[in-house]
Amino acid sequence: MLLPKAAFSNVYPMKTDATHANRLANRIDDKRDDLIQLTQELIRIPTLNPPGENYLEICEYLARRLEKHGFETNFIRATGTPGDSERYPRWNLLARRDGPRKGDCVHFNSHTDVVEVGQGWTTDPFGGALIDGKIYGRGSCDMKGGLAASIIAAEAFLEDVPDFAGSIEISATTDEETGGFGGVAYLAEQGHYAHVDHVIIPEPLQKDRICLGHRGVWWGEIETHGEIAHGSMPFLGDCAVRHMGAVLSEMEKTLYPKLAQKRTAMPVVPEGARQSTMNINSFHGGQAEPEADYTGLPSACVPDSARMIIDRRYLMEESRDEVVTEIEDVLNHLSETRPNFTYSLEELWSVSPTMTEKDAPVVTTVAKAIKDVLGKDPEYVVSPGTYDQKHIDRIGKLKNCIAYGPGLLELAHKPDEYVGVDDMIQSAKVMGLCLIDLLAVE
Ligand SMILES: [Zn+2]
Repeated sequence: MLLPKAAFSNVYPMKTDATHANRLANRIDDKRDDLIQLTQELIRIPTLNPPGENYLEICEYLARRLEKHGFETNFIRATGTPGDSERYPRWNLLARRDGPRKGDCVHFNSHTDVVEVGQGWTTDPFGGALIDGKIYGRGSCDMKGGLAASIIAAEAFLEDVPDFAGSIEISATTDEETGGFGGVAYLAEQGHYAHVDHVIIPEPLQKDRICLGHRGVWWGEIETHGEIAHGSMPFLGDCAVRHMGAVLSEMEKTLYPKLAQKRTAMPVVPEGARQSTMNINSFHGGQAEPEADYTGLPSACVPDSARMIIDRRYLMEESRDEVVTEIEDVLNHLSETRPNFTYSLEELWSVSPTMTEKDAPVVTTVAKAIKDVLGKDPEYVVSPGTYDQKHIDRIGKLKNCIAYGPGLLELAHKPDEYVGVDDMIQSAKVMGLCLIDLLAVE
């Protein structure tokens, strides 16, 4: 039941007093239908990335809603960032509501983009069907469900504690799935995190987990060089693919066993990612793949170039330089031992590992709220892959940031992706309690 505000205007502020927390929890329960509808409507705006469809539309939808709840909205186009064009403009929304008194700024950041649909769906990927307490659709768990839960949490808090100290921000940003350059990175470059104190990113890490950060990333391209000749007389040329084969076998012999030995103190989930890993993202040697309408044979040539893109994920315990040196060691060893072996190595992109301390204010606040709502201590985890926290840390210079939100990471990017309504409700309660803890005045 919804109590009229006047009925308790003289009993708050009480910070996380039990009755206050209960009232907020009840209010969020009352918003269940609203939460479902909000999630469904977000899913029904197909914000596919690439190429970056309907970014303006989803910002306009969110702005209409948040303005009704007293938020000031700011549309920010990341002009000139990767993928930005007149056809696919990179629109972000930054909504802010200030309380009547000074205090901290709590910022919820969600990405609005979703990945391609893929095969194997039994429901409409942009239908938002509600079946047995789950809402289905591309982006339901990653991460429109988390965005909706944070909005409901903020709205419930504002109804309950209009006289709060500080400000609440909700950002809806683009391109997380393709690096976040036109989204959080752009906002951070424009200085939008300078005044922010606490950041919660409602990525689907599960309602009882706090994600402190992520491993580092180093992507590089190795090229081996050869010499073109007629394929019937390969001894007159030099085969770049055979050289790359030697790179692969040297990696298997020395590098992969070394990486498997490197364990981390970071609580990465799943367990298999609690070490250094390296994926060979692609491998290409010799002639280009023929055009689809070409039905002839390739010509007989010795390949003079082979390229391999590697995706190395690294740990707090390692440095970027160490990662690069290990790769160079493999290549230099071959330069010394294999006739005519030459190579080039190019860094494609690099992200440092990041991990917020467990005693950071946002972590302890969320931990306490999880305990209150779910009756258990949170599990502290680190993500195997990166997300927008990297930009908030590196460009925004703000360490007090975590990922916390509803949904199962394992469902992200899969067919029949869904988010559970009860999970969203409970996460919203956790986020709402955090707002009480951080912004309700004594
Ligand atoms: Zn995501």
